[in-house]
Amino acid sequence: LELERLGVHDSVEAVFPPAELAAFLADLPAPVDVIGDGEIATCDAAVTLEHREAFLELDWVHSIQAGVDRFPFDAFEANDVILTNSTGIHDRSVGETVAGYLLSFSRRLHDHVANQQERRWSRPEWDEAFTLPGKTACVVGTGTLGRGVAEVVGSLGVEMTGLRRSSESVPGFEAIYANDDLHAAIAEADFVIVTVPLTDDTRHLFDADAFDTMREDAYFVNVARGPVVDEPALIDALESDAIAGAALDVFEAEPLPENSPLWELDEVIVSPHCAAYTRDYFRDVGEIVRKNVSRLDSDAEFHNRVV
Ligand code: NDP
Repeated sequence: LELERLGVHDSVEAVFPPAELAAFLADLPAPVDVIGDGEIATCDAAVTLEHREAFLELDWVHSIQAGVDRFPFDAFEANDVILTNSTGIHDRSVGETVAGYLLSFSRRLHDHVANQQERRWSRPEWDEAFTLPGKTACVVGTGTLGRGVAEVVGSLGVEMTGLRRSSESVPGFEAIYANDDLHAAIAEADFVIVTVPLTDDTRHLFDADAFDTMREDAYFVNVARGPVVDEPALIDALESDAIAGAALDVFEAEPLPENSPLWELDEVIVSPHCAAYTRDYFRDVGEIVRKNVSRLDSDAEFHNRVV
């Protein structure tokens, strides 16, 4: 593989200005340019948010997200195109976002912000606010996101348990469950936090049964991908008070449709798929790209290779 031109596809604009990444990578041995759809064919590699059919003519495509469920793996394989992702960089950002959700629920900050919009001086009921130490959280997926959540939320005194494909222990978690023990893992948790990739195995992992299993006073957090959750089942669970509330960064349809009941439900925090946003995002992605460019000549395995 020889890199002659690396394109920064303009779809990354949704997360950071493409020119910032191009400038960050300006010292690479090949030119790095911001490209639109019309210029994909002029490159041999691209950094992108979205998928385009024209990428199947390139040698290498790098996703600025960790989740690569929108890329057609079979077509990449069939066309000999390498696909790499950006796992490994979202630990602190997503961990802090999840800590923020938990602190909003415990300290009622989302209510204060909502009341402020209405110029309403309204204190919580005496038994609404609580503190986090001694509460338990089950993190479903103990990769980069899950470990970041364990680090930040664990530092607030929450007891962390995790669930992964193997039941091998993971630093930051007091107990680890294997994926066939989902119901045992989530049954007693005060917070259930989802951080798994979307795959055939995890699609609708959280269905009506899972929400039935959760405690009625438990909160659900999804920072993974919308289709990991059966959204109508979640809405039912929230409307029937089968669970206490939810913080959701990802949805089955994005943007979340204006008529979704999730916008208006009590004890639901909606964020627009931005749990991992940070002004340093382009640098973190740039370091992964740089590492892989340096591996091009050495025949070394690509870092974060997915296909
Ligand atoms: P990692 O690959 O580092 O971690 C994935 C974890 O999920 C691993 O612990 C893995 O288990 C576990 N897992 C995979 N399949 C299953 C399964 N069937 N049952 C139980 N556990 C499973 O990925 P990241 O942490 O970097 O990212 C995870 C996902 O989060 C991404 O794919 C993306 O969709 C989403 N994401 C969302 C963001 C946002 O902005 N909201 C930002 C970044 C990522 P094991 O350890 O045993 O391999």
